[in-house]
Amino acid sequence: MSSVIVKDSKIQGRGVFADKDFKKGDIVMKWDASMILTEKEAKKIPARYKKYLVFFKGKYIMAQYPEKYLNHSCEPNTKEGNLCDIAIRDIKKGEELTTDYSINSPPQLKMKCNCKSKKCRKII
Ligand SMILES: [Zn+2]
Repeated sequence: MSSVIVKDSKIQGRGVFADKDFKKGDIVMKWDASMILTEKEAKKIPARYKKYLVFFKGKYIMAQYPEKYLNHSCEPNTKEGNLCDIAIRDIKKGEELTTDYSINSPPQLKMKCNCKSKKCRKII
């Protein structure tokens, strides 16, 4: 049973959306961290897959479905916990879930941001 769904996003490509209401502090998604890469392997990943890489406690984790579709926002509604995403405010069913990639993304990764938040930093 999942409490999130993946569908087209206004931010970019596909995104992850709440399929129920979450309260601040709820775990919205648990990560499947079964795919851990070495730094050498991580650097060889084709550019289009790099956005699925999460840098967590010195490990490169290849995000799996549905986590890999979690978009970045400069004004996110979730944060990364211990191999999970946690709501940082109440989230209504139907809202797109977002996180701040700059916290746990691999150091060499830079991306343009299209989150449309007033606080957008444009480059993350
Ligand atoms: Zn932004």
